[in-house]
Amino acid sequence: MAESLHSDIAGNLAEVRARIAAAAQEAGRDPRAVTLVAVSKVHPAAAVEAALAAGQTVFGENRVQEAQGKFPALKAAHPDLRLHLIGPLQTNKVKDALALFDVIETVDRPKLARALAKEAAKRGAAPACYIQVNTGEEPQKAGIPPGEADAFIAECRDLGLDLRGLMCIPPVEEEPSLHFAFLREIAQRNGLEGLSMGMSGDYETAVRFGATLVRVGTGIFGARPVQA
Ligand SMILES: *Cc1c(COP(=O)(O)O)cnc(C)c1O
Repeated sequence: MAESLHSDIAGNLAEVRARIAAAAQEAGRDPRAVTLVAVSKVHPAAAVEAALAAGQTVFGENRVQEAQGKFPALKAAHPDLRLHLIGPLQTNKVKDALALFDVIETVDRPKLARALAKEAAKRGAAPACYIQVNTGEEPQKAGIPPGEADAFIAECRDLGLDLRGLMCIPPVEEEPSLHFAFLREIAQRNGLEGLSMGMSGDYETAVRFGATLVRVGTGIFGARPVQA
């Protein structure tokens, strides 16, 4: 791989980490309470290698199949690598997902929660889970509607899922901070600590609103090629 790609990714990572730390400090938060998830979807394994070389260990992918093509070898070579699923999960892919992903950020419906609990029991290990909340109530977007969140959180707990927190993707045309505050409120009233929120355009805002996971792709790896 070109040396320039390596140094671009290392430089971008340093900048994103510095911005997260500054936003955390401004908000009176410990920067170590924020985990950077490097979203490597569409980018090749070489880009992930470059990020690993720069000390990044947590990665996010939105498709099980794409991750299966890239990450088994990377995980074998880097045992400390942690992979988060940040895209929709079909129940027929649950087994494959739990074989590869350490964290499922997109638990969004009872059928999926039940399938995850069943597969986790078979494996004898439960993955860390986040519930995706459709804070903007957008019909085309995944996530449990906010009005059903409390009941769904209780259901996931009853199923024995290792529930860590909530995740959201705000509507593109709306002020993200309103959605971040809304997600935080749902988490707080349910005693959940984890908040996965913030992408390249708004992760500093998300950190100010309490994000514990920020999912940054473009800001680290550059623009994604348009997918067919
Ligand atoms: C692609 C993606 C990201 C990263 O988006 P960028 O704008 O490139 O940082 C974050 N979260 C989810 C759910 C994604 O699908």
